[in-house]
Amino acid sequence: MVDKRRVLAEFRYYDEPTLDSQLPITLSNGFVVVAINGACPLCKKEIAQYKIKGTVTLPLPTVLTFDANAVCDECKCIFPLYGRIRAKNKTAQIERLENGRWVFYSHNALVDKFKLSLNWLTRFFKD
Ligand SMILES: [Zn+2]
Repeated sequence: MVDKRRVLAEFRYYDEPTLDSQLPITLSNGFVVVAINGACPLCKKEIAQYKIKGTVTLPLPTVLTFDANAVCDECKCIFPLYGRIRAKNKTAQIERLENGRWVFYSHNALVDKFKLSLNWLTRFFKD
């Protein structure tokens, strides 16, 4: 049985640019998104930037969305990486779709979550 989602992910992966090549992007509040990082859901290791490919869009001046696939060479797996980053006050918050709803994480909460089980992480740096 062919896993259609995996085939589509692999097809996209070879065709799309790295997220890295589409950054940095500055949100309307001046917050600069420099990198979007992911960790393998199986081995938890951080994936190199050049192994994360997809699209970064700015649908609103305050919102960056990313939709990508990442490859872990060690586990031979490909996994989705998507979400949005929204300007909030002088910083930004990351939001992730869970059961059709956007779930919010503060930067610190995101890092804590990452230590537990999260398979993706976004790093923020200020100018
Ligand atoms: Zn892995």
